[in-house]
Amino acid sequence: MARKVIDGAQTSCKMEASMTNTHQFQTEVRQLLDIVIHAFYSDREVFVRELVSNASDALEKLRLKQLTQSAVYEPERELRISITTDEEAHTLTIADSGIGMTEEEVVEYLGTIAHSGTKKFLEAMKESQSGPQDLIGQFGVGFYSAFMAATEVEVTTRSWQPDAKAVKWTSDGQEGYKLEDAPADTPRGTSILIRLKDDAQDFAKANRLRHIVGKYSNFVGFPIDCNGEHINTVQAIWMKNKKDVTPEEYEGFYKFISHTEGTPLSYMHFSADAPIVLNSVLFIPEENPEAMGFGRCEPNVSLYCHKVLIDSKPENLLPEWLRFLTGVVDSEDLPLNISREMLQDNSLLRRISGIITKRFIKHLETLAKDDAEKYENFWLQFSRYLKEGIVTSLEHKESLAKLLRFESTFTEPGKLTSFADYISRMKENQKDIYVLFGASRAQLEHSPYLDALTARGFEVCFFTDGGDQFVVESLMKVDDKEIKSIDRANLDLPPLEHQPDPPGLDENEAKGLTEWVSARFSDFSKITTSDRVTSAPAIALQGEHDISPEVKAYLKAMGQPVPENHPEIAFNPHSPIVQKLAQLRTENEELADLLAGQLINTALLRAGMLDDPAKLADNSQALLEKLLSK
Ligand code: ADP
Ligand code: MG
Repeated sequence: MARKVIDGAQTSCKMEASMTNTHQFQTEVRQLLDIVIHAFYSDREVFVRELVSNASDALEKLRLKQLTQSAVYEPERELRISITTDEEAHTLTIADSGIGMTEEEVVEYLGTIAHSGTKKFLEAMKESQSGPQDLIGQFGVGFYSAFMAATEVEVTTRSWQPDAKAVKWTSDGQEGYKLEDAPADTPRGTSILIRLKDDAQDFAKANRLRHIVGKYSNFVGFPIDCNGEHINTVQAIWMKNKKDVTPEEYEGFYKFISHTEGTPLSYMHFSADAPIVLNSVLFIPEENPEAMGFGRCEPNVSLYCHKVLIDSKPENLLPEWLRFLTGVVDSEDLPLNISREMLQDNSLLRRISGIITKRFIKHLETLAKDDAEKYENFWLQFSRYLKEGIVTSLEHKESLAKLLRFESTFTEPGKLTSFADYISRMKENQKDIYVLFGASRAQLEHSPYLDALTARGFEVCFFTDGGDQFVVESLMKVDDKEIKSIDRANLDLPPLEHQPDPPGLDENEAKGLTEWVSARFSDFSKITTSDRVTSAPAIALQGEHDISPEVKAYLKAMGQPVPENHPEIAFNPHSPIVQKLAQLRTENEELADLLAGQLINTALLRAGMLDDPAKLADNSQALLEKLLSK
């Protein structure tokens, strides 16, 4: 995997044999090391996890090379991790027989910020109020975390490539590092020797190390020994029968692969033999990784073929909207030598993706049924991913719709409901599902659009997140019931059982009024009197071909042409103001004109459809002047 060397890194490494060469750290590395070295950590043992995890990664890569490449240096050397502690010399060494690094690779990987977690850590440090110890736990700072406990780190490494030479990298974590040739008989792999700080001497104690490594060593796919004593059982928990895995083991595995100290919110273990052999363990993290404003997270589910790691961050394994998941997918049916390019467009991978996605959605359904509180907790943090899924994964949108949660006219503020519950409460004469979009429940509760629905005892769902309109409109239906936005003109509601009193305008008066208004205000597709509104004198309804204010704003922001809307205005025939208007249009046409303008522009404003607020302001002023001049 080639990585770009970031500016500022010393990359001149054409040196003479056995000459030492001093290199400067990239500026960001120095910043990072400064934090790592000087901060106080309650749990600095995480550096051991980082180094063992790097050793494990290196061994995984070597194993894949052995299976796909003909020549590997020292093919017979056993794949293992060896930890050595030396209390007298105050050192700790973590060595592996993995892929190793060439000189160029050492310069690139151990002198720049190559690791995305490290980059995120630095960004987070700039924004955060909390100390680095919390953030190191969250992101893991990889190799550089060794300097939490070290006065000096010495890396001796020899690449798997047969003709590579061994190199030694030494640094005190200050300005830079020293590179020199290592002995020719250096074995394949990497050995990291840490000279411990005075206050970190306990990491030279074998018992302490055994205890730290013991927490997750059983998730490392290779044997680990400590001072020659074998300390772990190699197991791939995703290949085991889920009955044989304890919740603690799942949690331990999660901590190991996520490089955090957190507990997963939920996990799914799934195995299948047909049509594809699949084993997978997926974790929902404790917190939304994108919630703190650190940008989009990278895919974090690794792809294995019968316990051999093929790719730790495959781009196309799962759909984008599942990028918050961490875990493992293993399929024996994949060819081992599958390249990144082949992963881009592989029909088997697409099928795997489909199966896993379906299973994961089912997992969420079960969670929602069995532990509603936990599901709500999940929903509050991760709803945007599921909504993204509805818009982007057509084949899953129906099942995802069932996972949506929202408030409604029938729920208490803060309490959520689902479409399934909504449907179970639908009235006998109710055909459709009714929804309303807006900024907050408080705003929606006062919407005059609710009048007609409330009068019929129909429930209305509130959607208050930006983008909800796209999500719900792309659903169109749930269980064959159409979803209708109640600001639309064509709602097709059943007639009201009881007419409100006092009686409104009679048919003639209503006709006279609407014809008179239509003649004066021509921007509208229709002017009516209607029982759609009872709490306000008038409302503006979206015409059949109109686009919503939200979509309009979006088009505008994207610099696209915005089609002209022709909303419908519905007057409330029971409103005393409207009745007065009907009377005024024959008695004082000038005043009637201003009053009608006032009612229409206010209705448009309420609906978010008033393009130019000055229209309303001018009309108000003229109306007041007219009224006060009498
Ligand atoms: P990450 O492991 O997330 O890539 P690290 O900071 O832990 O980030 O390590 C940086 C890079 O250094 C690794 O990607 C790898 O290329 C290299 N590296 C670190 N440790 C080893 C090792 N034991 N063997 C081979 N390469 C290693
Ligand atoms: Mg690492």
